[in-house]
Amino acid sequence: MPNRRFADGEVVMGRWPGSVLYYEVQVTSYDDVSHLYTVKYKDGTELELKESDIRSQSSFKHRKSQSSSSSPSRRSSSRSRSRSPGRPAKGRRRSSSQSREHKDDKKKTIQETNLALLVLKPSENNTRRYNGEPDSTEKNDTSCIILEQKSKPDLEIERVLEQYSLRPRKEEKKKEEIYSEKKIFEAIKTIEKASPKTKELEFGGRIGTFMLIFFLPATVFYLLLMCKQDDPSLMNFPPPLPALESLWEARVFGIFLLWFFFQALLYLLPIGKVVEGLPLSNGRKLQYRINGFYAFVLTAAAIGTLLYFQFELRYLYDHFMQFAVSAAVFSMVLSIYLYIRSLKSPEEELAPGGNSGYFVYDFFTGHELNPRIGSFDLKYFCELRPGLIGWVVINLAMLLAEMKIHNQSMPSLSMILVNGFQLLYVVDALWNEEAILTTMDITHDGFGFMLAFGDLVWVPFVYSLQAYYLVGHPTAISWPVAAAITLLNCIGYYIFRSANSQKNNFRRNPADPKLAYLKFIPTATGKGLLVTGWWGFVRHPNYLGDIIMALAWSLPCGFNHILPYFYVIYFICLLVHREARDEHHCKQKYGLAWERYCQRVPYRIFPYIY
Ligand code: NDP
Repeated sequence: MPNRRFADGEVVMGRWPGSVLYYEVQVTSYDDVSHLYTVKYKDGTELELKESDIRSQSSFKHRKSQSSSSSPSRRSSSRSRSRSPGRPAKGRRRSSSQSREHKDDKKKTIQETNLALLVLKPSENNTRRYNGEPDSTEKNDTSCIILEQKSKPDLEIERVLEQYSLRPRKEEKKKEEIYSEKKIFEAIKTIEKASPKTKELEFGGRIGTFMLIFFLPATVFYLLLMCKQDDPSLMNFPPPLPALESLWEARVFGIFLLWFFFQALLYLLPIGKVVEGLPLSNGRKLQYRINGFYAFVLTAAAIGTLLYFQFELRYLYDHFMQFAVSAAVFSMVLSIYLYIRSLKSPEEELAPGGNSGYFVYDFFTGHELNPRIGSFDLKYFCELRPGLIGWVVINLAMLLAEMKIHNQSMPSLSMILVNGFQLLYVVDALWNEEAILTTMDITHDGFGFMLAFGDLVWVPFVYSLQAYYLVGHPTAISWPVAAAITLLNCIGYYIFRSANSQKNNFRRNPADPKLAYLKFIPTATGKGLLVTGWWGFVRHPNYLGDIIMALAWSLPCGFNHILPYFYVIYFICLLVHREARDEHHCKQKYGLAWERYCQRVPYRIFPYIY
C-alpha cells in the first residue's frame, strides 16, 4: 500500500486542474487504486487530485494584509467568502460596479460569481492581487493562491488569470470570448466527471437496488395482469398468476430478437450526421451517429409494408405478456453481459454513479459508462431505439386491436388521442436525438439493469398502458373534452420542448446570438446556469412540461379507474427523485453558484408548490 502524504480532514492547498492556481481544500478521502485524493473546496465543489497537485499550507507564503482597515461591512459580506472554487471577488472595479449592480441585474449576477485570485509573486513586495479585491477582505486569506513563478513572466500569470477569472461580461470580457476558451472549459468539464469510486449510494443502496431488481419486473407484470381484468380496480385482490408455460413462447422471443436486431441494423446505417458527446474523464469524446429519426421512418415503412401484406399486428396485443417476458429476459441477459464485460474495463471508463465496488449496486446502476462493441454504443442505442420506437408500434397494435375486437371502422377518439400524443413525444425525442447526449443517462449513469430494463421493458410495456387499457375498457369522450385535453398536451409539449431546447442550445453554444437575451450565472467549471427564460421560471421546467403531458395521456381513459393514471403518478415520483439526484450532482459541481441559482429560482418543478 503506497504511503499517502495527506490525511483525511487535512486542510491543504490543491492545484486547480490545468492551471497554476492553488486553492484551500480539505482532503476527504484517498483512493488506493487510483492514488487520487478527493478534496473539497470551500464552496462544496469536490474534485480528485493527484498527490503532486497538492501542497501543504506551510509551503505557501501567506500574504499579509496591506491595509489595516477591515470594515465590518466588508468583512461580514458572505458573498465575499469562499466562492467556488476559491474566494469570491467583487471584482477589480468593485466600487464602480456596485452602483451598476442595482441598474443591471445581469451584471450583478456575473459579478457575484467572479473567482477571486490571490497572487504571490517572487517577493512579498511585489505581491499584488489581480482582481483588485479590497484589501480588507484579503487578510489571512489563502483560499486561492498562485505559487511563486520565478520562471514564469508576469504575462503568463496574467494569461492564466484571464482564463480562470470569470469577470463581468461587459466590463472585462465578452461572452463570446469567455466561451471561446474551449480548451480550458473542456479540461474542467472533464475533471468534474473524473470520479472513479461511487461513495454515495442512491436508490436505497445495496438493499434498495437488490429489491428493485425484483420489484420492477413484478410491477410490470402486475400492471399488465390488472389491465386484462374486466374490473381493473387496484382495490381488488390481484388476479391469480398465469401458468408459467403460458408466459413463454419461443416464437414471440424470436420476434423480439428480430425487432432488436432490425433496429440495430438501422442504427448502423451510414446515414445522418456524426456528432461528438461531452468529454469523458480521460478527455476523449465519443462519436455518435444521429440517425434515430431515419430509423423511425424506415421502421414505419416496414410496418406499413407488413400491414399491406395483411400481417396481423394484433398478434402483439394477443401475446402482450409474452412479449414483456421476452423483453425482460433479454434485458436481464444483457445486464449480466454488461456487468461481466465491465469488469475488464479500465477504471476511467466506469460510470461515476455505478462504481461502488458492490456487485448488486453496480449491476443495477451500471458499472461501465459507455459500453461499446466497436463503434456500436449499446446504451445510446437502447435509450432511443428498440424500446421507444417499439412503444409506438405497440400503441398502433392496440389501436388496431380495439377496432377489430369492437368491430369499429374507426378507432375511438380516446385511442386516437393517446396514440397521437405519444407518437408526438417519440418523434420529438428522435428528431432531437442529439439532446440525449447531455442527459444524466448518458453522462452519469452507467449501462446496467436499471437502464437496460427501463429502456427495453418499462418504456414500451408500461408507457403503452393507456392504449392497452382502452382496448379492454372502451372510454367515450366528447369533442370538447378531447379539445381541452389536446390543449393541455400542447401546453405541456410547448414547455417541455422550449425548455429543453433553451438549455441544450445554451450548453452547445453559450455565445449563440439568439440566446443573448438570457441571463446566466457563471460557475467555476466554466459552464453557466441560466437564470432567466424557462430555467428562471422553475429549476426543472422540462419536467413540468413532461408531467403536464403525462396527465394529458391519461385523461382520455376517463375516471373509472386509477390504473391508466399509473403513468402520471409514477412519472411524478420518478421526476421528483430524479430532480433530487440532479440537484445533488449540481451542488457538487457548482457549489455556491448553484446555491445562488436556487435562491434566484426557489421552486424546483411546480411554481409556488414545489
Ligand atoms: P435535464 O435535461 O433536466 O438536465 C439537467 C441538467 O441540466 C443538470 O444536471 C445541469 O447539467 C443542467 N442544468 C440545470 N440547471 C441549469 C440551468 N439553470 N442552466 C443551464 N443548465 C442547467 O436532465 P434529464 O436527463 O433528467 O431530463 C432530460 C429530459 O428527459 C427532460 O425533459 C425529462 O423530462 C425527460 N425524461 C423523460 C423520462 C421518461 O421516462 N419519459 C425519464 C427521464 C427524463 P450541466 O450543468 O452539467 O449541463
